[in-house]
Amino acid sequence: MITADLANIRIEKNNFSSIKSVDFNALDFGKYHSDHMFFADYNNGKWHDMRIVPYQNISLSPATAALHYGQTVFEGFKAHKAKNSSDIILFRPDKHWERMNKSMARICMPPIPKDIFMDGVIEMAKIDRIWAPSQEGCSLYFRPFAFAMDAFIRVKPSENYYFIVFCSPVGAYFAGKLNVKIETEYVRSAVGGIGFAKSGGNYAASLLPAKKAAVDGYQQIMWTDAKEHKYIEETGASNVMFLIDNVLVTPELSSSILDGVTRDSIITLAKDMNYKVEERKVSVDEIILSLKNNSMQEAFGTGTAAVISPISIINYLGVDYTVPSPKSDGFSAKVSKILNDIKYGLVEDPYHWTIRV
Ligand SMILES: *Cc1c(COP(=O)(O)O)cnc(C)c1O
Repeated sequence: MITADLANIRIEKNNFSSIKSVDFNALDFGKYHSDHMFFADYNNGKWHDMRIVPYQNISLSPATAALHYGQTVFEGFKAHKAKNSSDIILFRPDKHWERMNKSMARICMPPIPKDIFMDGVIEMAKIDRIWAPSQEGCSLYFRPFAFAMDAFIRVKPSENYYFIVFCSPVGAYFAGKLNVKIETEYVRSAVGGIGFAKSGGNYAASLLPAKKAAVDGYQQIMWTDAKEHKYIEETGASNVMFLIDNVLVTPELSSSILDGVTRDSIITLAKDMNYKVEERKVSVDEIILSLKNNSMQEAFGTGTAAVISPISIINYLGVDYTVPSPKSDGFSAKVSKILNDIKYGLVEDPYHWTIRV
């Protein structure tokens, strides 16, 4: 049990909980929010006035810089209700803090001190703990984010920011049959750009290509490098992995690829399960060849929302290639089980990934 230094956080309780209006057996993703939110302001060169207040709308000047030039970052991680105690278990919040600061550095935002981030999420977990669903596969999703608050429409780094954390009870994520299209026209991000940062504009860039692919029956885009469209980068807003000839293969990180916490966790577990792991450039040609000669055993996206999303079909230049269905004793099934057992506190956590509140 970790206790935050409450001296720094002012708490204003919400006397009108909305929890009774939520059907916990029909949770969607991001449809509901819990009763409180954590808030910190940045001005005069420092983060201050940490507070937890009732979840509420915020008022902004129409000139707010973030709305015009996209100086925004966000994070997303989950907490699960422990299976055999009343604790709720946060999964790798410190790793998300670390990444948030990397994102912030790239877009000229002042870093968030670790104690502000961690105390904020831990106090949110405490005050809204009844919002962590106990239903199978459900969790409490934390959304920390920050944005530029200057009311000044010139392109420059802002001098004022908000950092906010709110929580959303979310349902088990059934991706269904995931058909993806290898993108050879549009790009999400380019080397040297901000693709590695969880920053707003990257997702705006992905909307139109995703919408077009959906018309043809593909739920996600498999992004390729911006220069040649020759190498695989990510799938939708997930990292992507392949099991080829019993080797776990995934694109190596670069400035155009998001450094996923799920990706990192799965690589760590795979190595400890004695799988060979290769983080390297993965060419489209290699993937298509492995599908043609049946050496591809599994292909899946990895991310906090769905954890592992098995891919059924990969489309390339108008041709659909079928990925074998995941086996119940296959790699992704085994790794999902270990990861889940850690997240629900059913086994020891040798990696110190979890924080119990
Ligand atoms: C958030 C995200 C991921 C997955 O990261 P996790 O830390 O595993 O949730 C992958 N790619 C993109 C583009 C993302 O935004």
